[in-house]
Amino acid sequence: MSKSVKLSLIVPCYNEQDNVVKFFDACVEAFRGHIPTYEVVFINDGSADQTWERLLKIRGDNPGAKLKLVNLSRNFGKEAAMYSGFQHATGDYVTVIDADLQQRPEVVVQMVDHLDANPDCDCVAAFQKKRHEFGFMGLCKKVFYKLINSVSQTPFYPDASDFRTMRRQMARVVAGLTEHHRFAKGIFSWVGFNTYYMPYVADERNAGTSSWSFIKLLKYALEGIMAYTTFPLKLPLYLCAMLGFGALVCLVVALAASSPAWGWACFGLALSTVQMLALSMIGLYLAHVYMEEKRRPICIEKEYLTYEEAEA
Ligand code: UDP
Ligand code: MG
Repeated sequence: MSKSVKLSLIVPCYNEQDNVVKFFDACVEAFRGHIPTYEVVFINDGSADQTWERLLKIRGDNPGAKLKLVNLSRNFGKEAAMYSGFQHATGDYVTVIDADLQQRPEVVVQMVDHLDANPDCDCVAAFQKKRHEFGFMGLCKKVFYKLINSVSQTPFYPDASDFRTMRRQMARVVAGLTEHHRFAKGIFSWVGFNTYYMPYVADERNAGTSSWSFIKLLKYALEGIMAYTTFPLKLPLYLCAMLGFGALVCLVVALAASSPAWGWACFGLALSTVQMLALSMIGLYLAHVYMEEKRRPICIEKEYLTYEEAEA
């Protein structure tokens, strides 16, 4: 059996023709003398430009390099590209990093050093010390994190990115989550393990433009909320409780004041309560079906100690 590499880099690429060569060279430069063996898993996510040809060129120009090139049949989105990368990454440590050099390979060396020095730490996640977005976009992100953290049981660390390095054990678990509607920030948090949040400053894009528009980000945020909380499906239950309480108050007033008007109000509210109750039942069952459909493991065993090793 071949010895595994120390580090696997997962690099999703969409229209990165002007970045991939520079990115690869920057990795070689940064890792020299620091990381003894590493593989780079490039995933071409249906780029419309020359990204794939450039990746083949990197392969041709660097015969000794441990390169894995995946060419997806079309653009599936960064989440799917990362999933593909996780299927091929075999290193002791696995890093997810963008191809546009906003996330510097030098930071990966710091992440690896941190994992080497801290055996209890399973993952080092980078978060942006200073975000570039201010104004409306910044506000939207703040609101998103507030909202999702208040309704989801999975904690979301504000400003944490997908840029992170984790031990193989954690990477294997992430690779095993096969849900279609993926939201990596949620997945990384849901699987647990000890994560250290390392501050870093994101650089400007080397070339090209970000593929995220406001609408795309909004859809992505919605995806995150839907994937990590079934709270909206349970809303009718809370409404039902409020309406039921209202109906009760109306009933008491109607009886005390012998008022037919309050009686009718009570009747209307009671009717709505019954309807909301029926809706909430559907919501609750749907929430169960939805979570089951993800087929996530029921629990994740980080360690398992048994007497058999001692006897052996
Ligand atoms: N990306 C991808 N598929 C997509 C969109 C983006 O693989 O459909 C890759 C992209 O090539 C880059 C990373 O995901 O390596 C982050 O994308 P981008 O730089 O556009 O996002 P931002 O840095 O603005 O969040
Ligand atoms: Mg970028």
